[in-house]
Amino acid sequence: MSDCIFCKIVEGSLPSTKVYEDDDVLAFRDIQPAAPVHVLIIPKKHIATMNDVTDEDGALIAKIFAAARKIAADLGVAESGYRLVNNVNRDGGQVVYHLHVHLLAGRKLGALVQ
Ligand code: 5GP
Ligand code: ZN
Repeated sequence: MSDCIFCKIVEGSLPSTKVYEDDDVLAFRDIQPAAPVHVLIIPKKHIATMNDVTDEDGALIAKIFAAARKIAADLGVAESGYRLVNNVNRDGGQVVYHLHVHLLAGRKLGALVQ
């Protein structure tokens, strides 16, 4: 997707601060962190939203969660705790239409919804 900012980050034509990468998954620091630790975990292939995930993506989704576990451990927040968030479409608050899971940590997080 040529007009997708996260695809550009995957390609390297937009910079990012990477914290994890494998063949299928990339994770980088959110540009506007909402917590001391705020990482975005994305599939390298373009999937617009959770609604567009298919059964064939099962292994890929498992890899995203495996990456989250590893990143939380590497950044030292696995024990203190963290939150994984996926926003879907307008009412979910999705702004970037390339599937991503937010990993938030580093402080006691407040209410799940406002
Ligand atoms: P959404 O609201 O779609 O779930 O979250 C999109 C997230 O992407 C926001 O937290 C926003 O700060 C982050 N973001 C938007 N543009 C960029 C960018 O160019 N680089 C990085 N690292 N994060 C971005
Ligand atoms: Zn994309």
